[in-house]
Amino acid sequence: MTLTMARILAVANQKGGVGKTTTSVNLAAALVQAGRKVLLVDLDPQGNATMGSGIDKRTLARTVYHALLGIGDIAHLRVRSESGGYDLVPANRELAGAEVELVELPHRESRLRAALAALAPQYDFILIDCPPSLSLLTINGLVAAQAVLIPMQCEYYALEGLSDLVGTIKRVRAHLNPELEIAGLLRTMYDPRNTLSQQVSEQLVAHFGAKVFRTLVPRNVRLAEAPSYGAPAVVWDRGAKGAQAYLALAEELLAQGDGA
Ligand code: ADP
Ligand code: MG
Repeated sequence: MTLTMARILAVANQKGGVGKTTTSVNLAAALVQAGRKVLLVDLDPQGNATMGSGIDKRTLARTVYHALLGIGDIAHLRVRSESGGYDLVPANRELAGAEVELVELPHRESRLRAALAALAPQYDFILIDCPPSLSLLTINGLVAAQAVLIPMQCEYYALEGLSDLVGTIKRVRAHLNPELEIAGLLRTMYDPRNTLSQQVSEQLVAHFGAKVFRTLVPRNVRLAEAPSYGAPAVVWDRGAKGAQAYLALAEELLAQGDGA
C-alpha cells in the first residue's frame, strides 16, 4: 500500500464572483474523473460549494465551523458528494460567526491546517474554496495549503485586486507558511471577442509568465446552470465548453507533477 500525501490547494481571490466556487467544484470533480481521490473544503459561509456539490446546507448539523473551533472532528463531519464523486467538508451561515470567535483562540490562523493534517494521507488533492475576503478564514485556507490557485476575471480592476492578494500571500509565507506557492492564475469567464479581456489577459501573462494556466475558462452558461442541479458541470454536462475547460485544467495541474 502506498501512502499518498495530498496536494492542498486554496482557491482564493478576495473579489466575489470571479469563479472561485465554480472552479473548486468543477476542478474537484474533474480530478475525480482523472482517477484522483479528492476532498473539497467549503470555507465560505455562503455555502455555495456545498450546494453546488448537491448537499443541502440548511440540513447540516455540523460543518467546517465546528472543525475550526475544535468542537467537532473533521473526519466525522465530512459528507459525500455523490454527484461529484468527492468528499466534502461543508459550510453554511454558521461559519460567519467563526471569524469573531477564532480571534479569541490560540493558533487562530492555523486551525484548518491542524484539522486537515490527519486527513491529508487519505487524498490525492484537497481543494479549499475560500470566501471573498482576505479575512481570517482565507488566512486559514492559505496557511493550510501548499499552493494558491487564483481565479480571475480579465477585467480592468482585476489586476488592482491581485496586488493585495499577492501581498497577503507574501505575508503568510513570511510568518505562517513558508511553503506557500502560487499554483497558478486561472482566467475565468473569458470572452475572446472582448478587447479588454484580451488586453488584461496579455498583461497577466506578461507579468506572471508561466504562473498563468494555459487553460482559459470561457464564459459558458452551463457552468452557471449546473449548481441548481446540485452537480458540477463536468458531470452534469461534460461536453459543454466550460466543463471541457475544467477537465483540461485538471490535466494541466496533474502535469505540474504532484498528486499523480
Ligand atoms: P466566487 O466563488 O468567486 O464568488 P462563483 O464561482 O460563485 O464566484 O461565480 C460567480 C457567478 O458566475 C456564479 O453565478 C457562477 O455560476 C457564474 N460563473 C462562474 N464561472 C462562470 C463561467 N465561466 N461562465 C459563466 N458563468 C460563470
Ligand atoms: Mg464562492
